[in-house]
Amino acid sequence: MRGTKRLSRAACAAIALAVCGALLAACRERPHETVDFVMGTVVRQTVYGPSAETAAREAVERLRALEAALSFHDAASDISRLNRSSGGPQVTLGPEAIGLLERSLEFSRISDGAFNIMVGPLVRRWKVTADRPDVPPPAEIASLVRLASYRDLSVDRDRRTARLARRGQMADLGGIAKGYASDVILALYRARGVRSAIIDIGGNIGLLGSRPDGRPWNIGVQDPGRERGSYIGYLSLADNSVSTSGGYERFFVAGGRRYSHIIDPRTGYPADSGLSSASVIAPSAEESDALSTAVFVLGASKGIGLIQRRPGVEAVCITTDGTVIVTEGLRGRFTLTAPEGTYRVEYRYRVGPDAAGPARQR
Ligand code: AMP
Ligand code: MG
Repeated sequence: MRGTKRLSRAACAAIALAVCGALLAACRERPHETVDFVMGTVVRQTVYGPSAETAAREAVERLRALEAALSFHDAASDISRLNRSSGGPQVTLGPEAIGLLERSLEFSRISDGAFNIMVGPLVRRWKVTADRPDVPPPAEIASLVRLASYRDLSVDRDRRTARLARRGQMADLGGIAKGYASDVILALYRARGVRSAIIDIGGNIGLLGSRPDGRPWNIGVQDPGRERGSYIGYLSLADNSVSTSGGYERFFVAGGRRYSHIIDPRTGYPADSGLSSASVIAPSAEESDALSTAVFVLGASKGIGLIQRRPGVEAVCITTDGTVIVTEGLRGRFTLTAPEGTYRVEYRYRVGPDAAGPARQR
């Protein structure tokens, strides 16, 4: 009996030591960190574990392949082939483009066209990143709005074909492809045995697991009024995705007005819904990416009305007058760090998974 007791004490001590050792090793473990430029944006990886370096290298190769298939600007991409054939016959596309087009169509439907996969002609005309962008005349905008109809995209998954009904129409995956790519990279990490990592593709962040010591990741929420890397606060999350759409990302100023790269496809003008940024948290980055674009277009009230019907989806909306509207499900997971008097936080009720209509305010 005494022998058993002594043995069990020794065993306990050994287990405690092993746990402490593992925790210490986890704390000390350094991530493999990389910065690359792919898909027209900065890609940052933070990957832990023995296969981190290989996984991060393979991730960049995978992203380059995705860019080649999905880019709006690369003439050889699947999307450009589809756009060139608008008004013509069906085009056979790769499985990735077909799948993403089909799901983009669904996001266009559920957001009632606030996210609109057919926004291409408007994006091209506004060309906010051009050397000398200009404000198009209203008649031209009106005709481009008519072209931006997602009902004119048909996708046949079985035959792997797609078609744009009218000449001049263009699909643009710019509001969803980076999020999708982030999901693809998390799957790649998992397949390589990585258990703890962050991929950030131009503000579309995928989180694999938690930090090696088990604590959640802290993800900064960009201050829309300050230089990149200045945060108003942070979200503490694990195994989740965060995407931010911000008017500060790409824009030009004309006649004292700021015109951003996110277009309201219903008016044809850059979105002007009272938001400086919309961050959406969702189980997949594809979803958070598409929805952050939609919420930015819809504004806080209608935007939160859209996302609160979706399980596991939350949002942080920063209004142009400095209010940070945080959905109720993020209580305890959002920390404001901005100096007092700059931003003010408001939590909004989640009214259940079947909720419809604008969010009620506390
Ligand atoms: P994001 O930064 O994810 O909000 O995506 C912005 C990009 O999506 C733009 O650069 C356009 O290529 C495209 N885009 C702009 N407006 C929309 C819209 N209303 N719906 C879908 N994609 C859009
Ligand atoms: Mg987006």
